[in-house]
Amino acid sequence: GQCTLVCPVGALIESPHWHEVLHTLDARRRVSVVQVAPATRIAISEEFGLKPGTVSTGRLINALRQLGFDYVFDTNFAADLTIMEEGSELLARMEAHESLPLFTSCCPGWVNWVELNRPDLLPHLSTTKSPQQMHGAIAKRSGFARSLGPDFAEGKTEPYVVSVMPCTAKKDEAQRPGSSGDVDRVLTTRELARMIRARGIAFGALSEDGQFDSPLGESTGAAQIFGASGGVMEAMVRTASHLKGGDASLPLDWEALRGVREGVKTATIPGIGTVAVCNGIAAAQRMLEQEAWRDEFVAIEVMACVGGCLGGGGEPKSMDPQILQKRAKAIYGVDATARHRRSYENADVRKLYARELGAPNSPAAHDLLHTQYTARQSRRSLLMRFLDCVDRRDG
Ligand code: SF4
Repeated sequence: GQCTLVCPVGALIESPHWHEVLHTLDARRRVSVVQVAPATRIAISEEFGLKPGTVSTGRLINALRQLGFDYVFDTNFAADLTIMEEGSELLARMEAHESLPLFTSCCPGWVNWVELNRPDLLPHLSTTKSPQQMHGAIAKRSGFARSLGPDFAEGKTEPYVVSVMPCTAKKDEAQRPGSSGDVDRVLTTRELARMIRARGIAFGALSEDGQFDSPLGESTGAAQIFGASGGVMEAMVRTASHLKGGDASLPLDWEALRGVREGVKTATIPGIGTVAVCNGIAAAQRMLEQEAWRDEFVAIEVMACVGGCLGGGGEPKSMDPQILQKRAKAIYGVDATARHRRSYENADVRKLYARELGAPNSPAAHDLLHTQYTARQSRRSLLMRFLDCVDRRDG
């Protein structure tokens, strides 16, 4: 898979957790919550012989309910929240002329690469948590968790939170220091397919009528496109220009940021500046070799996998050379027909701010929805230092 080239943290090796998740669900001792990423609902169709590019959201929700999850939520809810926080963070940095350009941080493959290889770039990384980690934090530590009963409200117990992701590196992200165990287990799309088969659920025959639970299930088209290269930036542009009081007639579709193309994709957004998208980590490395990125761009999206998450290492393997294009077409199709296409139009996200968080980037929002990064040393550099010490001692 594409991830083989890019996962810098050894998270490539898919350590399977699906047996343990099935066991926990069967025991029925804990309230269980599952969240599903945007790329999963499309690629899972391929595991069950449906046409590549088939959107299986409803079928997937029905399958998750049959597996025994109490609440089935959409990671896209948190993607809208990510955009509210990251868009506001971008505007705050623009106002302060500080740490620009802003790099997106929702891809753990990219974050790990920066921590290991370019710690000088850490101040440029958005402190906004990824949708997976935001969703976990909200599921465990917000009004939703408190509404589950007195023991939850008093912090004596918490729901069992599982996420289904296209990505092996998301397993590593859930274990990062500071993530507070907000996501208990991460399953890849392929692992979920194995669970569904193990339970004998005829996925292809399920109805497409499944609906996400409320309140962490509502989302907009902007969240859906997170699954494709360029999608995070396009989603951020839609909301940041609104928050900045921009022209309401600004287009929603930024074709220049879309697609599986070589090199850096760019677009100039009125009132914001020029934004860039690196399709795959190799594209980011090439961009960073020159210093021009520092002055040319105000914000830069980097997703480690070519094509974005829809080309992730946890997605079904495919021999189809057009598979990324087919999955992307499905994702943008969902966005084009969505009732709301801008993150700030998500009614449940608005309610969450009104009832609990105040405004984006408020202290309460920072407490729950932001994180920090640390320079780390790669195994290779530790080995080099060790060899250097040995060399000196011997000398
Ligand atoms: Fe994971 Fe998506 Fe990043 Fe690939 S691009 S490493 S699938 S988050």
